[in-house]
Amino acid sequence: MSNYSSVLVAVDLSEESSQIAGKASELAKRYGASLSIIHVIEPLSFAYGGDIPMDFSGIQDEIHQQAAQQLARFGTTHGIDADRQHIVLGRPEVEIHALAEEIGSDLIVVGSHGRYGLALLMGSTANGVLHGASCDVLAVRVGKEDD
Ligand code: AMP
Repeated sequence: MSNYSSVLVAVDLSEESSQIAGKASELAKRYGASLSIIHVIEPLSFAYGGDIPMDFSGIQDEIHQQAAQQLARFGTTHGIDADRQHIVLGRPEVEIHALAEEIGSDLIVVGSHGRYGLALLMGSTANGVLHGASCDVLAVRVGKEDD
């Protein structure tokens, strides 16, 4: 069995994030690994930039500050140092892969709703992280059975 030394947990800051971070923290302790956390903010301009001619920077800053506060709370609860709390702008899959490479993570932990049917065909972030990851990926099953 692998011995992990650097675990990266990705959270979307939904209610389930605490459960996912808890699992990652347990694993990191078990392996004596470092634990880092990432939240990716998708720029509002990705969604609306072309259609609505307005400056999103104020709202974007507000979203960033709230995310930083939530990550700090996760840090306190799960023992993740401030310098291992990452907030990045971009596409979740892309930025999670990039940070994992940059900090040399050998395990990425994400949540998965275990979607099937149409939702699975359309893809999910967990799926996107799994494909193209250069290290192991653990998908922690979250949510209700019929999600
Ligand atoms: P989803 O496929 O959107 O249901 O998300 C599944 C999992 O992907 C979440 O539980 C997180 O682990 C990760 N994830 C989704 N969105 C983000 C995000 N914006 N930043 C970091 N991780 C994310």
